Amino acid sequence: MTDTAVKANLLGMTKPQLEEFFESIGEKRFRAGQVMQWIHHFGAEDFDAMTNVGKALREKLKACAEIRGPEVVSQDISSDGTRKWVVRVASGSCVETVYIPQNGRGTLCVSSQAGCALDCSFCSTGKQGFNSDLTSAEIIGQVWIANKSFGTVPGKIDRAITNVVMMGMGEPLLNFDNVVPAMNIMMEDFGYGISKRKVTLSTSGVVPMIEKLGEVTDVSLALSLHAPNDELRNVLVPINKKYPLAVLLDSCKRYITRLGKERVLTVEYTLLKDVNDQPEHAEQLIALLKEIPCKINLIPFNPFPHSGYERPSNNAIRRFQDLVHKGGYNVTVRTTRGDDIDAACGQLVGQVMDRTRRSERYIAVRQLAAEAEQTPTASTRN
Ligand code: SAH
Ligand code: SF4
Repeated sequence: MTDTAVKANLLGMTKPQLEEFFESIGEKRFRAGQVMQWIHHFGAEDFDAMTNVGKALREKLKACAEIRGPEVVSQDISSDGTRKWVVRVASGSCVETVYIPQNGRGTLCVSSQAGCALDCSFCSTGKQGFNSDLTSAEIIGQVWIANKSFGTVPGKIDRAITNVVMMGMGEPLLNFDNVVPAMNIMMEDFGYGISKRKVTLSTSGVVPMIEKLGEVTDVSLALSLHAPNDELRNVLVPINKKYPLAVLLDSCKRYITRLGKERVLTVEYTLLKDVNDQPEHAEQLIALLKEIPCKINLIPFNPFPHSGYERPSNNAIRRFQDLVHKGGYNVTVRTTRGDDIDAACGQLVGQVMDRTRRSERYIAVRQLAAEAEQTPTASTRN
């Protein structure tokens, strides 16, 4: 192989893919498990570290393969233990990954795309437009980087990351072919060994892909609902115009019922002041979800520049929570973590090379609106 030939990146390969790879280079399939352990358990970046792989095979691997994660641009650690990484992916854009330690758990929030094409009205990722799908190596690479930051050393498998949520930047179901293998590596024993219940995919509601997901995996599902009726959801989550609530909830119900009795859908509901936080919204929500086995997670809106939305008062948040709780639901409020490093939900900004030029248009429109508000009403000319 010449230097210019593309090397196979083993980081993003599932066990069956890696077995196939070894077979294709004339080696035994069991090498897949060995190499996966070096990569994911011990954070190996090069083949020389792999002491139970013979020198000849290591040399062969060096010539045709590599272990390449996204480039770490920065790592911040918050005073509350939250960690945030900005990583650069092949398209040149940067995405963010966040680690949140809480109550003995360690949850890693992983990005699936640079930007997002779906343009939910209250989401800063959406406002940046879309640039690229992450490869499976770039997705699992975020777990790999985070895991290594906890000092993984040969002979010691850290369990700092107990849960993974696909709730970073991007819509995971619009990057299905890369997200599914990456989630498989998260759950695979030779990968990160995380239980299927503790790997959660969050979607804004790409119905055909929820159906497809149910055919290939049994990870936990979260639905970004945010509105209890179609009229409001069409505004907040525009993909609702294509897949309205009735078909969406039907599809989520099918997915979750298939997983068995004890599994429930997580419903995410970002609370926006005076938009979806009123008692009537709580009542509608109670009625809407009555057939769905679910728990509800309220996310107080995290502001970002030019958003046009506000976070409700603590009283309004509590009032909404109480009403939904009285309606018979398990309902929690997501606390904001990592405030000092801008790591909260919806504040992940990365640096997206916007192909849609939506971000420019968005800022221009907001500025015009702000200027219009400041201009005194023109006096009536006689
Ligand atoms: N695209 C997927 C996953 C990423 S977003 C989805 O929409 O589900 C992760 C969660 O954060 C979603 O529920 C999203 O609606 C919410 N979110 C986005 N912007 C937010 C903001 N500014 N404040 C609070 N939550 C936000
Ligand atoms: Fe995309 Fe999710 Fe943000 Fe909507 S909330 S724009 S689907 S990342």
